[in-house]
Amino acid sequence: MQDVAHQVYPPSTLYVVATPIGNAGDITLRAVNVLALADAVACEDTRNTAQLLQRYGLHKELIAAHEHNEREAAEKLVERLRAGQRIALVSDAGTPAVSDPGARIVDAVRAAGLRVTPLPGASAAVSALSASGLIGDRFLFAGFLPAKAKQREAALMALKPVAATLVFYEAPHRILEMTDALSATLEAGRQVVFARELTKLFEEVHRCTLAEARAWLEADANRQKGEFVVLVEGAPPAAEGDDAEAERILAILLEECPLKQAAALAAKITGKKKNALYERALEIKGGG
Ligand code: SAM
Repeated sequence: MQDVAHQVYPPSTLYVVATPIGNAGDITLRAVNVLALADAVACEDTRNTAQLLQRYGLHKELIAAHEHNEREAAEKLVERLRAGQRIALVSDAGTPAVSDPGARIVDAVRAAGLRVTPLPGASAAVSALSASGLIGDRFLFAGFLPAKAKQREAALMALKPVAATLVFYEAPHRILEMTDALSATLEAGRQVVFARELTKLFEEVHRCTLAEARAWLEADANRQKGEFVVLVEGAPPAAEGDDAEAERILAILLEECPLKQAAALAAKITGKKKNALYERALEIKGGG
């Protein structure tokens, strides 16, 4: 803690501070230090943040900065930062500006030429990914899907071809409806992970296929309670339609040119691997 206290925390800076997503122990030493040092804490809900600060023995001036007053709050914060203050920005849980207010304030502070510094910490999305075992080095954070069925379906259709793991946040009263929407839009064999109540007493990380998802949620009413991150495996590689098209192109080229050249041209046209097309060309020529 001494090392942390000896770091330099410049004035006229907005500190974007991640707070726990459940377990009060999930706050960093730097976050506590900056909260203690700050002249004021801008927050989504003053009551929640007062309670949070109390747990760490801190009492601070709190400034309400929620989604309905973010612009006006930003102006006031810029003035205070210009006057040399250190302001901490927090949300109710996790990392500010991630499916939470904060981005407008950060934008305004940066536009005013003032310093913004992040204090990394808890994030429901990253925690869920880390415990999912889903393999793949890319993910797409989609946040909350639209509540209205039509818009939700359109959003899911747009995400369907994405090969990266899809990351959603969802409220418990919509979890069944959301699962149905996923099942209606995406392939039934995709892996899905329900990461529920992370860092809390009833934490659960369950993985199954999309086809099995509704039955799992319904098997125990408690499984539909609490806060959820839902992860969905990315699109399966090379849709069948693509393969059929590559095959068609290869067959036409094989009628006109030698095998090697046909494979090379087909690779150029389709963007698929030359070796795989060469192997397939051999099979076609051999009558396979
Ligand atoms: N800024 C936060 C973050 O960094 O994760 C997210 C805030 S967003 C308004 C709240 C949503 O995050 C919840 O509805 C839920 O989907 C997800 N979430 C927050 N805490 C969670 C937890 N402990 N377990 C699972 N999901 C959680």
